[in-house]
Amino acid sequence: MTDIKKAAVFVAVLSSIAAFPAAYPAFAAPVMLKGDLNRDDIVSVSDVVVFRNFLLGRYGLNETQTIAADVNGDGNVDSADLPALQDIILRSRDKLPIGTWIGDCGGAKRYFSFDSGTVSIVDPNSGSSQFFTVEDVGDLMVFRVGRAEMSAFVTWDSELSFILKWENGSTETFRYFCDSKIEATEFLTGRWVTSQGRTFEINGLSGKLTGKNGDVSRFEYAPDGENITFRFGGTENSTAGKKTVNDSMHFTVTWSDGTAERFTRQEIEVRGGITYVNGILIANKTYSLPADYAPGGILPEAQAAFNEMQADAKKAGYSLSIVSGFRSYSYQNQLYTNYVARDGKAAADTYSARAGHSEHQTGLAMDINYAGTWFNNTPEAKWIAENCVRYGFIIRYPLGKEDITGYQYESWHVRYLGKELAKEVADSGLTLEEFLCIDSRYKS
Ligand SMILES: [Zn+2]
Repeated sequence: MTDIKKAAVFVAVLSSIAAFPAAYPAFAAPVMLKGDLNRDDIVSVSDVVVFRNFLLGRYGLNETQTIAADVNGDGNVDSADLPALQDIILRSRDKLPIGTWIGDCGGAKRYFSFDSGTVSIVDPNSGSSQFFTVEDVGDLMVFRVGRAEMSAFVTWDSELSFILKWENGSTETFRYFCDSKIEATEFLTGRWVTSQGRTFEINGLSGKLTGKNGDVSRFEYAPDGENITFRFGGTENSTAGKKTVNDSMHFTVTWSDGTAERFTRQEIEVRGGITYVNGILIANKTYSLPADYAPGGILPEAQAAFNEMQADAKKAGYSLSIVSGFRSYSYQNQLYTNYVARDGKAAADTYSARAGHSEHQTGLAMDINYAGTWFNNTPEAKWIAENCVRYGFIIRYPLGKEDITGYQYESWHVRYLGKELAKEVADSGLTLEEFLCIDSRYKS
């Protein structure tokens, strides 16, 4: 449509509006785009060119253009309108998106993190990132990497959404996600349980949240260093917080309302009847071992760690020896049955494990020197408590945590976890159950 035809339509629209009763004033506003002198529905540098030529007396403006050209709204079209027009263009240039936007091309999602003049495009499935410089040229967005260049037509729907029409004809819609930039290296995957009783199952950059009451919702999220944003449903329903990494299995998010929520990785896998939580073999009152699981002795790595600890203890003047290491299912069954006969089931359950539930069956636990309360507070017990973590052991049933571990305090019982993990657990001040957010309770 030529400008003259457009102007004719505009005038026709204006006169029909004038004839309308006052109930229809809403028609008037959207027709005119201030500064859109060439009537291409976008205010861009080409409008400045038209305006400059008008000021130089090279072009005349028709009626529609005259209305559009009074950018500062003072009733005159003159050189004072030029800076106002440039302001509009600069403002719309600011619309070069900043922050993270979700691009959706027929359901395939990508994450675009724009930073002035650059963009990283993250594929949530592969976790790979690509970096481009990006330039907004009027209604084109030009992406460049090295000598390669691709461009796309931009159409803004609103402040929070736009459409890119790529050179190959495909259309990608964009929704604003958050101000921070996505770092592909910060992806969270897997299952996380929180101190508020929520479970986040994360795959790529989206996931499922199961609330305390079992209600399920879906989210998208963006990790960026210490910033993390979760979005449930619409853009308005975002929650952002600062993430602090505690150790390899925990981080804490301080939400914008000031509340903190601790996230614990919890991948529970059962292989051959044996339960591993985040790869850690677990035997407690909740998780049992099959009757035929029998390493036959203390596992070599745990034995080597004990030998090293024993040698260092000896140098420090303490004598340590293992009084009970591996115990088979049938031997534990015999022990437990005897204790029940002597003290009754309730009492026996506080100090002895039922068959299949003993950590001694794992080959990773051992009782040192004397397996009884007499050992508590001995110099050897104190030395073990202070030093065992350096060799990869933890005091498995600490004092005051009986309700959590399911057992009385045992200063003599250590569990081998390996040096790194033992240090993380010890540093957390938590029992292994608390560290992994699991419980230790017989089902019957
Ligand atoms: Zn023990």
